Amino acid sequence: MGEPRLLRIRPAVQHYEWGGTEALPALLGIDNPEGRPFAELWYGAHPRAPSIAETPRGGAPLDALIAEDPAGWLGEAAAARFGPALPFLLKVLDARKMLSIQAHPSREQARKGFERENAMGLPVHAPHRNYRDRNHKPEIHAALGGFWLLHGFRPLEEIAAWLERTPEARAVMPDFRERLRDAGADRQRRAALLRALYTHILHLPQERVDELLDALLARLEDAAPWPPSSPEHWALRAARQFPMPGGRRDRGIFSIFLLNLVHLRPGQATFQPAGVLHAYLEGTTVELMANSDNVLRGGLTPKHVDVAELLHVVRFDDGPCTVLDGEPAADGERVYRAPAEDFELSSFVLERRTVTRKTDGPEILLVTEGAASVSVEGTGIGLTRGQAALAGPGLRYELSSPGRAAVWRAKVGWKV
Ligand SMILES: [Zn+2]
Repeated sequence: MGEPRLLRIRPAVQHYEWGGTEALPALLGIDNPEGRPFAELWYGAHPRAPSIAETPRGGAPLDALIAEDPAGWLGEAAAARFGPALPFLLKVLDARKMLSIQAHPSREQARKGFERENAMGLPVHAPHRNYRDRNHKPEIHAALGGFWLLHGFRPLEEIAAWLERTPEARAVMPDFRERLRDAGADRQRRAALLRALYTHILHLPQERVDELLDALLARLEDAAPWPPSSPEHWALRAARQFPMPGGRRDRGIFSIFLLNLVHLRPGQATFQPAGVLHAYLEGTTVELMANSDNVLRGGLTPKHVDVAELLHVVRFDDGPCTVLDGEPAADGERVYRAPAEDFELSSFVLERRTVTRKTDGPEILLVTEGAASVSVEGTGIGLTRGQAALAGPGLRYELSSPGRAAVWRAKVGWKV
């Protein structure tokens, strides 16, 4: 084609109502006088909101640009492995309000679910549809500021202790402690017990949910304020944020006590593989995911919850959350290793230095602090905060900064 394989890309902004009003406008260097929520910046080629690539011919939606020449932009190997679309999507996300509790399907579950819902004649964008594509949606994200989230089931011993000190919750399964004692360290029996508890909560009659949560929340309110490091704090917030018609209660509030409550410091990350329940609670983060929209919700949402399908997808392992600090690589790069072939996230902190990298597939470089330039054979693109570039495969690029810069690198993960 003879066209440059290094282009500036402008993100698509998502103004979901849960977004903050300051962090992302500040990152983009724009005013937000009306206080609109800025929830996510999408750097990628998602057909619903593609980035705009600045080409010599003018601005072009990135999905269309890649579709014109998938092998040229992705490389033969990535195009063959992942199809004619960018396999990953890079986001910056700012959550002012809590997001729904959710889990993502495996590739196999997504393929079967997508085909099943097609066979049922459900339109792809129907609100009660679970599967909008055939792909899995593993995610990794690294905090930009402090970040709160729920991630995976807590150790069952912690859940047992919570049940014991919480009469409204113990009523859901009074013999949990005895059953845990019987299960011992047997992973399968522990998972079966956790599945039974969670299934029980999801199937409680709504009147019973309301009765138990009304009592629990009233008691927590009396003892407020609670620190953000306590699930009680988030339970009360969820009750305020997700009021249901007729004073009913969102049973997802129970799940806040079942999941690990995690606080990430800047630069710390978590990985969400298929089946792990999680919810983003508050803060700004850089997120990299497979190119998919497949979400099964488990509460804290006015949206569709398909209990049967959620229970089919959720993994009932318990234990503390693994926090990733990134492994040091050459030139100050930190790599967040995760078992995902679709993507790999890493970051550089550049202090007046130049590093060289060679691409073996598509890459996106995003600056979140300071300024940097990326250049190929002497032709460069200057990037300031919030700005990003797409590099095609088989390029040798130089990344440099005259001062201090934080740069995120998103690429294909390949080897799992
Ligand atoms: Zn998710």
